[in-house]
Amino acid sequence: MRALRLESWKSEPVLTEVPTPVPGPGEVLVQVGAAGACHSDLHLMHDFEPGTLPWGPPFTLGHENAGWVHAVGPGVAGLEPGQPVAVVGAWGCGRCARCLAGLETYCEDPAAAPAPGGGGGLGLDGGMADFLLVPAARQLVPLPDGFSPVLAAPLTDAGLTPYHAVRRSLGKLTPTSTAVVVGAGGLGHLAVQILRALTAAHIIAVDPKETARQLAKTSGADLLLAPGPDLVDEVRAATRGHGADVVLDFVGSDSSLAAAAAVTRPLGDLTIVGIAGGSLPVSFFGLAYEASVQTTYWGNRSELVELLDLAARGLLTPEISTFPLEKGPQVYAGLAAGDITGRAVVVPSAEYTP
Ligand SMILES: [Zn+2]
Ligand SMILES: [Zn+2]
Repeated sequence: MRALRLESWKSEPVLTEVPTPVPGPGEVLVQVGAAGACHSDLHLMHDFEPGTLPWGPPFTLGHENAGWVHAVGPGVAGLEPGQPVAVVGAWGCGRCARCLAGLETYCEDPAAAPAPGGGGGLGLDGGMADFLLVPAARQLVPLPDGFSPVLAAPLTDAGLTPYHAVRRSLGKLTPTSTAVVVGAGGLGHLAVQILRALTAAHIIAVDPKETARQLAKTSGADLLLAPGPDLVDEVRAATRGHGADVVLDFVGSDSSLAAAAAVTRPLGDLTIVGIAGGSLPVSFFGLAYEASVQTTYWGNRSELVELLDLAARGLLTPEISTFPLEKGPQVYAGLAAGDITGRAVVVPSAEYTP
């Protein structure tokens, strides 16, 4: 089968032929219908030194995946070939308290996981291939009726990550509150839609790109701003001087974090989701009183079920561009160049083939 593989750290992925996996006991082979291209894959390609992570190449990229059950290993029941499924991306041990709660991102026994802290496309072979071997049936969520893998794949990360972040702050997102979304790309535009679907908060979206701001507008943002020296004053002006109740930073650079901290009001939440590697000095006078600074990583299984339900009812409409698997390397080049609006999704198979 075809697979887009990261062969070594600090390299570009290559499309190559690999043997089609055969599911062993408890495993499921999924025919991939869609695999989202994530900005974090660029960090995998460019930023990591050998030994930084507990796993490494070679592996097939693609950690936001959906498709159809193709074959099941011994002991797997309740899944039929051809059944459309979304793949939960973080693969933990499956037995600890966090895994049992569906929060495999924070598995308590990572040494017992297939790849410590990883999953398909993160140390293990991912979905930028014709088939994806999933280690356990619990990692599959059936798609709602009529819901396509192309729509589902981006929801497993680009949707789930902001959903998890928004849910943490739901109590602060009252009708009089303001949420600021920094970065209106693949995750950020879905954050705006999730805020719109779950809350009546005022929504401000910040992005340097006009196309991204327009996407934020059609996603439901009330006010569109560009980063720069006026940003903090503009957010204050839009919030009667108070600042924002919840700031979700999908960039995470020094400058985005400085602006995010400056617009977070007392008792507000500042959530760092983006992995641009910036830092934020925290000190008594450096932040609004009782502001909480938190990071989040991905989301859990029950949240993915909720998100798919939301999308199946038409309350989320991810902006998606699709590409054939052969175009995988160009998709990442476009992502690196900032040429992608919304989410780029690679489609190895457009429909299930038994
Ligand atoms: Zn990702
Ligand atoms: Zn675990």
